[in-house]
Amino acid sequence: MPGSQYQLTRTRLSHSLYSLTDSSDGGHEEERPNDAPRLTPLQKLTAAMCKDEKTIKELIIGRRVGFYKVRGEIGYGTFSRVKLAFHALTKDKVALKILDRTRLDSQTQQLLSREISSMECLQHPNVIRLYEVVETPSRLFLVLEYAGGGDLHNRICSEGKLCDNTSKITFAQILSAVKYMHNLNIIHRDLKAENVLFTSAGCVKVADFGFSTRVASRGSALDTFCGSPPYAAPELFRDDSYLGPPVDVWAMGVLLFFMVTGTMPFRADTMGKLRRCIMEASYAIPPWVPGPCQRLIRGILKPLAAERYAVDQMLGCDWLLPVEFPWALAPPEPPGPLQSLLESERGNQEDEEVEEEVRSALEELGFTAEHLRNHQLTDSRSPVTGVYRILLHRTQKRWGCDSLPVVRGVVRDPKREGLRAYRGLRHTSKFCVLS
Ligand code: ATP
Ligand code: MG
Repeated sequence: MPGSQYQLTRTRLSHSLYSLTDSSDGGHEEERPNDAPRLTPLQKLTAAMCKDEKTIKELIIGRRVGFYKVRGEIGYGTFSRVKLAFHALTKDKVALKILDRTRLDSQTQQLLSREISSMECLQHPNVIRLYEVVETPSRLFLVLEYAGGGDLHNRICSEGKLCDNTSKITFAQILSAVKYMHNLNIIHRDLKAENVLFTSAGCVKVADFGFSTRVASRGSALDTFCGSPPYAAPELFRDDSYLGPPVDVWAMGVLLFFMVTGTMPFRADTMGKLRRCIMEASYAIPPWVPGPCQRLIRGILKPLAAERYAVDQMLGCDWLLPVEFPWALAPPEPPGPLQSLLESERGNQEDEEVEEEVRSALEELGFTAEHLRNHQLTDSRSPVTGVYRILLHRTQKRWGCDSLPVVRGVVRDPKREGLRAYRGLRHTSKFCVLS
């Protein structure tokens, strides 16, 4: 591999951010003299993005965004469209969350920058990863880990409630993600079944950090009322301010109820009635829900935040006792700066081997150590960071980071029942109108 250094250069083309040129070779493969070194995949791609007509056209019409080839639509939300895409070098599938910058008011822009900064801090098996952020004058693209197994809302609406075993495994993964983010003082504020995604292998991924916020401490008061009303905690309707963690905990109680019964605990045909139901915590758990699960739901859905279960109490509850996690439940801190790739001191044998695999995959694509040193691998707006994070995650998955928890012992798997109520209704997240 040529040991040349790469630099980001700017040319007339709007996509020139991606022309990672090499001081020794900037041309097409065809222009290369016979004895010149073969071009690396990176060199070929950057050359095509600058000189190949078809590639340039695809970039102009949006069939390509940066290093990504864009495919069909996979979802949409209040603020975004989400498309499937592939990384042109690594071939990995990603989800592109596309936001129209011209339609973002200042409040939405603030939410978006919080979404990006929250996701940048999070690296957990049950949280969707942010690989890269691509900006054009009119659009903003969040390049996200792709979860190809659909969302929890659609799953329950089409297949009915989850059996006890699946509920345990699913809930335990959500809980692990929430414990991790709360440890980092990040509050999600929009936990709902539509935002719980699955990979094609069935691993849970908490998504949509559009309403998330980072608090100074877990005791910091918040006063922006947001989220989806059926999942909103009573204090959001009742008080002028609220604490973040208990609001996420309440939403998890609603989620758990929905998982095990296939219906929502609080339902009403007007917002006023829904609000009353929630403030009075008036709900009925069907008697066939197993006792330990009923006790957990009651411990969570307490109208007073101070009396509500904390995340650690939920983790220690009887219902989750048989669940065995394949990895430490919640790593205390996110991994160190990504530049650790280049550092010599390694704490952990496994990390070292993962990093070695990533380094050699990067080298095969044409990225050199100098190249990595020249770019801030913590900068989400760099295409080099995108490749690095995708390869790192791919390697971590090979090392088992997306393994599912298991339930020890024989657990009865009740026959699935069709969902009678609540079919087809999706919850829009918005600022709650409180008056
Ligand atoms: P809202 O605020 O209405 O929930 P949003 O604009 O914040 O929506 P998201 O919830 O992040 O958007 O995404 C919208 C939909 O796109 C999701 O419900 C899901 O179906 C799909 N989607 C989002 N991210 C991914 C992903 N990483 N992998 C697969 N599908 C995704
Ligand atoms: Mg959403």
